Amino acid sequence: MGTSEVVSIGTLRREIRELTATVTVLLDMLAEAGALDREMLRTRVEAMLENSREETPPMSDPWRPSDPDLPPPLGGAPDRDAVHEQPMVQCASCGSMVPERMTVIIATGVICDVCASRRA
Ligand SMILES: [Zn+2]
Repeated sequence: MGTSEVVSIGTLRREIRELTATVTVLLDMLAEAGALDREMLRTRVEAMLENSREETPPMSDPWRPSDPDLPPPLGGAPDRDAVHEQPMVQCASCGSMVPERMTVIIATGVICDVCASRRA
């Protein structure tokens, strides 16, 4: 496995800001259109966060061996068994082999999430 690329904190911050703004505007528009129950939304978001907390290991512990369903961390040494369960795709941008579920398809081909976030 060659190039391991790390998304910079600055990039993440910018994306989070954009996402937050997008969601905020989206919710406002839905609310104005009478299509949003904010209390229901909050309840459901919290329920989903509860669920994902139980199923997903913390970001700081990517090497926990007991979760074969999770994709291996980008650029890291693959966990033998976990890798074979999902098709691997070569990123058209950086050339890394990444699990198919961690890629996006753009006009020029299939690229990994890391490259996709850089283009955003
Ligand atoms: Zn890539």
